Amino acid sequence: MWKPKKREEREQREKRARRRRRPVESLPLELCDLCAVTFPVDEAVRGYVPDSSYVHPTHDWFDGLRPVITCSDAHLEVIRDRYRLRPFVQEEFWAAKIERALSGDTPVLTMEQLGCRTGLQAPEIRRGIAWHNEHRGEETPH
Ligand SMILES: [Zn+2]
Repeated sequence: MWKPKKREEREQREKRARRRRRPVESLPLELCDLCAVTFPVDEAVRGYVPDSSYVHPTHDWFDGLRPVITCSDAHLEVIRDRYRLRPFVQEEFWAAKIERALSGDTPVLTMEQLGCRTGLQAPEIRRGIAWHNEHRGEETPH
């Protein structure tokens, strides 16, 4: 009468053991944005820093907030301190939005389309483009 239950228990134990083993076999790794050391994904310390050169590839509500992954709280703090000193340049931010719109799969042909795609007003688009042209070829400061 108890036999089926025992087998069930053993099967569950084995299932649990398999589940525990699996992550060790193919452990996904993350890279620290500061020191470039690698560590398991679940040990990552994550945060966001304000960065006017950053726009999210698909979710524009993350625009201007660069995701940061580090190996420790201390390294996240170092990166936060660096970005605290980085000026948030509105024109750079608009330029990043424009660049994303222009590099999409659907071509943007008119100012109106660009406005729809970026959520920017025409004067903002003009200033963003001017900023982009002025700073073209420069390395993005980090
Ligand atoms: Zn680190």
